[in-house]
Amino acid sequence: MDPRRQFERLEASMLLCPRCRVARPVRRRLLLVLPEGDKIDYLCTACGTSCGDGLERPPPGTGPFFR
Ligand SMILES: [Zn+2]
Repeated sequence: MDPRRQFERLEASMLLCPRCRVARPVRRRLLLVLPEGDKIDYLCTACGTSCGDGLERPPPGTGPFFR
C-alpha cells in the first residue's frame, strides 16, 4: 500500500473559508517538504483564499493538523 494514496482522499475535506464565511472544499498546495512532514497550504476552491495550513505526516493515522 502506498501511503500517498491516503493523502489524496483528504483532498475532499472542507474548511471554513475566512472570506466566504462558510465551509468550502479546499485545494491542497504543497508549500514545503520538511523532515517531520509535508507543509500544505489549503486554498478555498471558490475564491482561492488560504483557509489555513497544516503539516501532513507521511505515516498514516494522525491526519492533517492545524495551528
Ligand atoms: Zn472562499
